[in-house]
Amino acid sequence: MLVDLIDVRQALEHDEIVPCFQPIVELRSGRLAGFEILARAQHPDLGLILPENFISLAEDNGLIGSLTRQVMRKAFMSAPVLPEPLVLAFNLSPVQLHYHSLPLQICEAAKDSGFPLQRVVVEITESALVNNLKRARQVAIELRAMGCRMALDDFGTGYSSLWHLQALPFDVLKVDQSFISSMTSKRESRKIVAAIVGLGQSLDLITIAEGVETEEQAETLLRLGCTLGQGWFYGRPATADQIPEIVAAAPRVLTGRMSTHGFGWVGSGLEALPTQRLAQLQALYDGAPVGLCFLDRNLRYVSINRRLAAMNGAPVAAYLGKTVEEMIPGMFPAIEPYLRRALQGEGMEEVQFSRPSNDPVKPDATNLVSYQPALDEAGEVIGVSVAVVDITERYRAEQALRESEDCLRYMVNLNPNIQWAMDSQGNFVDVNYGWELLTGLNRERTRNLGWLEAVHPEDVEPTMKALQEGLHSGKPIDLEYRVKSVDRGWRWVRSRGSPRVGPMGQIVHWYGSVEDVHERRQLEEAQRKDVA
Ligand code: C2E
Ligand code: MG
Ligand code: MG
Repeated sequence: MLVDLIDVRQALEHDEIVPCFQPIVELRSGRLAGFEILARAQHPDLGLILPENFISLAEDNGLIGSLTRQVMRKAFMSAPVLPEPLVLAFNLSPVQLHYHSLPLQICEAAKDSGFPLQRVVVEITESALVNNLKRARQVAIELRAMGCRMALDDFGTGYSSLWHLQALPFDVLKVDQSFISSMTSKRESRKIVAAIVGLGQSLDLITIAEGVETEEQAETLLRLGCTLGQGWFYGRPATADQIPEIVAAAPRVLTGRMSTHGFGWVGSGLEALPTQRLAQLQALYDGAPVGLCFLDRNLRYVSINRRLAAMNGAPVAAYLGKTVEEMIPGMFPAIEPYLRRALQGEGMEEVQFSRPSNDPVKPDATNLVSYQPALDEAGEVIGVSVAVVDITERYRAEQALRESEDCLRYMVNLNPNIQWAMDSQGNFVDVNYGWELLTGLNRERTRNLGWLEAVHPEDVEPTMKALQEGLHSGKPIDLEYRVKSVDRGWRWVRSRGSPRVGPMGQIVHWYGSVEDVHERRQLEEAQRKDVA
């Protein structure tokens, strides 16, 4: 539907140009950051008419200044329902940036409402800027001096010239909605958005994505480092009377995202500056007590830290651009399968690797290596991140401990006496081989209360009673009971044990031994019979 010039003039005369307010939201927290003001013509019969039907007509016929004044005046009237730090962003036609009267116009429009100019953003599309850049620059500098901020609208379309970005003092970069709409389905769009966001960040600009219609788009934008978003996902252009409801609504937090506090329009882009991230990563890289490198899909070193370079025996610079095979040909066959699997998307951790020593007197080193595929925002593997931990010392210490444990166990097993260990609750935790020789019960079967299997049924109850008393009092245990031997029937044994006490006085374990006292018990029995 087209509206002719007379209608625009009439609309202006009848005070029918009205502002609509589209929410601009901080992607990370879902919190409202402000509104973009979009002009509408309030037609008596046709209702609200979109700007595509009257802006260019107003521009061509010298009416755009009046239109802006009408829109601004009405938008500023909403100031009382716009708490700090919410901003209002106005669209200006490029020609308007050529008028020296513009800053004064904005001041005048804001004056009555008292809306601070520090919370005003002026949006300019690139196409408007090409005519008289010098004049536009002067006006822009004046606007900024007043406190207003400048946004470059629809970036990436039309006369997308990077020249404007450095020629004019912009604070905000608005990514055109044509890239956002295709971003989640089209890799190229996503790459372009990533590049624009990165460009904005490195120029210290706040980035706003336009036309965010789905949560998936918002999530992707947040991941790419974009700060703010606007679009139907966050809210369609609303009328002034709807503002209080929008302002009061709960933040639209993205699924699985943490909310941050204290967002202000300015400076929020700082936290994601790629230069800072790079600097931090570099510091981590250099200081890490771990060898690190990143390989591209052709297994070339894109980066390597000093530690790994030193482990491999060459300076950092020697690796960059070279393949792993070129740099460590001896080790390559052993690690290549892992690298190939990582390139297929499989992550592997703690792969033990024996690194041959260059020094004949030095033993081989032992490394734990992790291979992680690095994915781009489209989920494609773009390289492999490798981390190498030198565990030679730990490995040697563990081996030595294992050997000394084996040695001890061997000695204990060879000991003809039966030795046992019991926990503070009365469960047997270990016994040496002598017990198995005597009873036929191996260590597993003996564990906990399994040893009672070998005890004479008549002796189980008194033995357990005496054992419980010992556990309770903490006094040394001295018990005699019969056990079923493998080859000699029931035999009397004597079990004695003492507790080992921990630093807090608590019993940690009991240790003891079992000896065969069958001959002595028989002698005593015989003597008793004699006496009787
Ligand atoms: P713009 O500044 O890029 O504004 C964004 C446009 O995208 C608006 O269209 C908005 O309604 C639309 N939009 C917002 N979210 C979504 C979404 O999720 N999906 C889709 N498909 N569209 C969305 P609108 O209101 O028709 O405005 C069109 C253009 O007219 C504006 O583009 C701006 O360049 C211009 N304009 C609007 N108001 C004024 C004004 O007061 N003065 C001047 N000079 N130009 C204005
Ligand atoms: Mg705009
Ligand atoms: Mg735009």
